[in-house]
Amino acid sequence: MKNKGLLIVYAGASGVGKGTIMKKLLASDSNFRLSVSATTRAPREGEVDGREYYFVSHERFDELIAEDGFLEHAEYVGNKYGTPKAPVFKMLDEGLDVFLEIELKGFLQVKEEYPECVSIFIIPPSFDELKARLTGRGTESDEVIAARLQTAEQELSNQSLFDYVVVNDDVDRAANEVLSIISDIKNNKE
Ligand code: 5GP
Repeated sequence: MKNKGLLIVYAGASGVGKGTIMKKLLASDSNFRLSVSATTRAPREGEVDGREYYFVSHERFDELIAEDGFLEHAEYVGNKYGTPKAPVFKMLDEGLDVFLEIELKGFLQVKEEYPECVSIFIIPPSFDELKARLTGRGTESDEVIAARLQTAEQELSNQSLFDYVVVNDDVDRAANEVLSIISDIKNNKE
């Protein structure tokens, strides 16, 4: 029988560059999968339903909660986000390593439900750098940026809850660090 895959919680402040690192990780190992979350947030330009997220109404989101369809779910800056449970467990059973790109409250629920998960927190080189990236991205209003920065500050102060903290000073370097963390864990498991 195939070994179960690793469940990797992959978190970090909005605008820290998680998505860019994630693309590199997915391209570097065919055993990696990224879980697609459901959200009530509106799609950003270029985002496709079923690829970045399942974009759902608040009503549908609440139905999914009632059906016990989520491994975890949380509210983040006015919108709800959740990890569909069944596909994650199916992939883990198939031996695939599954990344959950989620925020802090969701991570705490996953840790409770699935203590063998590995958690990695991506941080910016500095708070000013984060501010510059979030503003420069141009995808959010000033109000949303301010709320996201406030949440980021709270999340950064909780970084010690994670198993590993990786600084995104350089995308390739940070991606390589994540890869070596995962390969060390897998080598120790064998
Ligand atoms: P964004 O709106 O920028 O795509 O995501 C906002 C925040 O929600 C990010 O920190 C992202 O990692 C987090 N997030 C995305 N999907 C989920 C999810 O399924 N559950 C939780 N708890 N957080 C999520």
